Amino acid sequence: MQRIVIVGGGYAGLGAIGALRELKDAELILIEPGEGHQLIPELPEALAKHGDVNHHVMPYDQLLKDSPLTRVNDSVTGLDTAAKTVILSGGDPVSYDWLVLCPGSEPSLPPIPGLREVAHTLRDGHDARGIKDALRYAKDQRVAVIGGGLTGVEVAGMLAIDHDVILVEAFDRLLPALGIGLSAYAYKRLRAAGVTVVMGQKLMQVNSSRIELERDHYGYDILIWAGGITPPEWIRHSGLPLDPRGYPVADGFGEVLPQVFVAGDLWHVVVDGEDIPATAQLAALAGDFVGETVVSRITKGHPGSDFRPRLRGMLISLDEGQGVGWVLHGGIPVRGFSARTLKNFSFQQYRLKLAKIFDRPWP
Ligand SMILES: Cc1cc2nc3c(=O)[nH]c(=O)nc-3n(C[C@H](O)[C@H](O)[C@H](O)COP(=O)(O)OP(=O)(O)OC[C@H]3O[C@@H](n4cnc5c(N)ncnc54)[C@H](O)[C@@H]3O)c2cc1C
Repeated sequence: MQRIVIVGGGYAGLGAIGALRELKDAELILIEPGEGHQLIPELPEALAKHGDVNHHVMPYDQLLKDSPLTRVNDSVTGLDTAAKTVILSGGDPVSYDWLVLCPGSEPSLPPIPGLREVAHTLRDGHDARGIKDALRYAKDQRVAVIGGGLTGVEVAGMLAIDHDVILVEAFDRLLPALGIGLSAYAYKRLRAAGVTVVMGQKLMQVNSSRIELERDHYGYDILIWAGGITPPEWIRHSGLPLDPRGYPVADGFGEVLPQVFVAGDLWHVVVDGEDIPATAQLAALAGDFVGETVVSRITKGHPGSDFRPRLRGMLISLDEGQGVGWVLHGGIPVRGFSARTLKNFSFQQYRLKLAKIFDRPWP
């Protein structure tokens, strides 16, 4: 019997498990420290005044009930690839025949003086609860959001109704992953919602009440850092071959070493020389793919064809009723109410996918 260890029960890990469940003669072990699957793209909504973080976390006890897998409620802190084991936080080893690493990513906090001491980040329900505890939902409370990518724009938009929000982006436009027209639309909407958008200036230093940019400075009450992601720290010491940014070097199947795979944010996917941005959508597709690859290798002895994700779009919420992005292969731009509705639809589709995979009731 093959023992397959999956590290991380996020978008990629659950996708992989969905495919691996087909194997009749395999032992599946999920190692995951959390109590529930975090619907991370929905977390900015949880920050809104009436948002509830619990609505965006699916307890594993319910989701994985009746699933033929063992869940180990712990974190992996290291690997011994020669001995084919992962090491748990207390030092215990867990052996594997096949390993699928999907621990996601961590916020990348550069060494800006003062930043680590004051910044909130948003990666999971715990972070979202921490931010909500600090928010007063009053217009005289100023929230500084640093980073004008997907996370920063969504957070700024959601908080603008009830707060004085400043959004800072070092580049000269928001949402660099989208086209210029869509970036301009997002800028216009945020400005109309009362957000002060400062572009083309980096954060240089921060103390408990003031951010210093290259030219300007502002007072603030809460600072949320949304300035990018990096692989988890322990991956750097895992002995896996890494690229200069610290991502495991994987082939077109996500395989890093024989029978050791990565998926999700940890797999820096490049197709035809183009970097594919790390998103939940990509993570779920990569998880499905890596799971299917392992099934194919075990049952047929060959992996099928390499990973060419067909992304269905990229949608960003600008507030509770508006959004911006593109849909369909080839990129049809959408904005306003239709973009927001499509984004809600994609959240619902993902919940339905999980309900189907894990044979759970309508979500
Ligand atoms: C605020 C925000 C908004 C976003 N919005 C969107 C969006 O609208 N659309 C979109 O497509 N993407 C969005 N993303 C990106 C998306 O959330 C990630 O790309 C996606 O979650 C990555 O999936 P993953 O499976 O790799 O990791 P995750 O979903 O982060 O799951 C990783 C899992 O691994 C577990 N884990 C971590 N470390 C260990 C360890 N050492 N041992 C065992 N388990 C471990 C974690 O507990 C977690 O359950 C957003 C991200 C953020 C932060």
